[in-house]
Amino acid sequence: MRTEHLAAEIAIIGGGPAGLMAADILSAHGHKITVYDQMPSMGRKFLLAGRGGLNLTHSEELAPFLNRYGSAKMHLENILTRFNAQDLRAWCHDLGYPTFIGSSGRIFPQCFKASPVLRTWLNRLARQGVQMRARHTWLGFSDKGALIFSSQDGTFETSPNATLLALGGASWPRMGSDGAWTKILAAEGIEILPLRPSNCGFNVNWSAYFRQKFQGQPLKRIGLKFGDTCIHAEAVITLKGIEGSGIYAISAKLREAVIGQSPQVLYVDLRPDLEIALLVQKLTVKKQGASLSNHLRKSAGLSPVAIALLREANPGLSNNAQKLAEAIKNVPVLITSPFGLERAISTAGGVKFSELDENLMLIRKPDVFIAGEMLDWEAPTGGYLLQASFATGVQAAKGILNRLPTAK
Ligand SMILES: Cc1cc2nc3c(=O)[nH]c(=O)nc-3n(C[C@H](O)[C@H](O)[C@H](O)COP(=O)(O)OP(=O)(O)OC[C@H]3O[C@@H](n4cnc5c(N)ncnc54)[C@H](O)[C@@H]3O)c2cc1C
Repeated sequence: MRTEHLAAEIAIIGGGPAGLMAADILSAHGHKITVYDQMPSMGRKFLLAGRGGLNLTHSEELAPFLNRYGSAKMHLENILTRFNAQDLRAWCHDLGYPTFIGSSGRIFPQCFKASPVLRTWLNRLARQGVQMRARHTWLGFSDKGALIFSSQDGTFETSPNATLLALGGASWPRMGSDGAWTKILAAEGIEILPLRPSNCGFNVNWSAYFRQKFQGQPLKRIGLKFGDTCIHAEAVITLKGIEGSGIYAISAKLREAVIGQSPQVLYVDLRPDLEIALLVQKLTVKKQGASLSNHLRKSAGLSPVAIALLREANPGLSNNAQKLAEAIKNVPVLITSPFGLERAISTAGGVKFSELDENLMLIRKPDVFIAGEMLDWEAPTGGYLLQASFATGVQAAKGILNRLPTAK
């Protein structure tokens, strides 16, 4: 019997980077794509990610790049090799936005922002016939396996040939990804690791004086030491604790330790560039009559916020050069808990890879695929999050293409 080659109807739920990338590939192959999103417009979190500069991916070699995904590397290695940073750059260039490598190795579009990229991308998808259905919330599956949506016009069901779920994690839920899908998929018997904040700040019980006077102030060129991790970094004091790029970089380890055996001590080195002996030497000569703060500022080169942090952690700070140097190199900060998901940059946990085949199709629900931050992986900031979201969107789209007859 001859197979008739018809354009398949594919529902993509979630109009973020993962869903839109899949829509791009599948519509280019002539399939009828409808993208549903519960927000009034597509790509809200993508726009937020690109507010201060859209860090699309990273120029690092593939091997260290893959290590950024920790234990999920084994599941993402093939996917990120098949659609790597070069491919993402080429895709962005093809859209009309060449990219550049910044001084830190991070890759940005030359236009820098996400909004022009998204606008052009949505126009291309419209030209490829993709239907966009904003303000449509996916509620789950009917008994017969149809997708149930609620919209302004009421609730309805639809039964496409294939479905891609690209519903995101649960950070910044105001942008649309609220993690409500965890209940729906758990009810279908799919194993999901609890969604937890990743690339997040942490709560610290600062004194009222320190928190009020120094909230929002950056600690620049510091060292952060936690367990066997030791990095040169930056952090920011907040009303409730501490955040910033350095804290995000160690957030996975810190979070797991705090959740397991709260609280934990994080050590801050206020002069990671100076050996302790040199610091002692600098602190030995104290100008007569100089206050301790002035001495720390002039001799150890500490900023006002660094001095305040040192004093916050060491109430009876001595004038002894050796003791001062030791305190500067090891300021203990008691971390009590991670900030909530509502302010985290990304989400850890999600659909376990053991629930999926190599094309990211749910083994228990054939023709339903998963991509993006819904999956159980986490990575630091630096472009790794978007790269994996795009790459899993590509993988799922190719998986869908493999399952469907070719479109006319
Ligand atoms: C402040 C901030 C800055 C960031 N900066 C960077 C960066 O510089 N570089 C980087 O690599 N990454 C960055 N990220 C992370 C990056 O934005 C995400 O990893 C990426 O957007 C995830 O893509 P996704 O397609 O999986 O999900 P999302 O982008 O979250 O999209 C999921 C979509 O699904 C929709 N949805 C959810 N549930 C339903 C439902 N039931 N029905 C219908 N629709 C639903 C949502 O409305 C949403 O539009 C940043 C994130 C934040 C919050």
